[in-house]
Amino acid sequence: MENNASSAALSGRAERIASRSRGDNWKKPPRRIEKSECITCDSCLRGCPAEFGAIFDRGLDVVIIPELCSGCPACVLECPVDCIYVDEDWTPTDDSMWNHIELTAGGTS
Ligand code: SF4
Ligand code: SF4
Repeated sequence: MENNASSAALSGRAERIASRSRGDNWKKPPRRIEKSECITCDSCLRGCPAEFGAIFDRGLDVVIIPELCSGCPACVLECPVDCIYVDEDWTPTDDSMWNHIELTAGGTS
């Protein structure tokens, strides 16, 4: 966050993490990863723009945090098994995951 360019790009994400809520102006629904089809290759994670940073590899699975996901959908183009779907009925992320996200956000550039 020291760098002006990256802090401008990441400020929206930081706000979403702090408020644990989705962007008000996002028209598209978030995406979700179908766990039974995912091969945990992390291609989508690398493809998600830093300003969103919505994808996390939790070791046993790779997940999209709906509150951070704009539905853009860059990750869909990266997935080799096509297992990233629109998630109209998304449910709020639980507190333990938010705690993990806050630690990750605070510990990296
Ligand atoms: S749809 Fe866009 S913002 Fe959402 S997880 Fe995929 S790349 Fe990231
Ligand atoms: S790119 Fe597809 S298969 Fe690879 S981790 Fe992401 S959702 Fe899973």
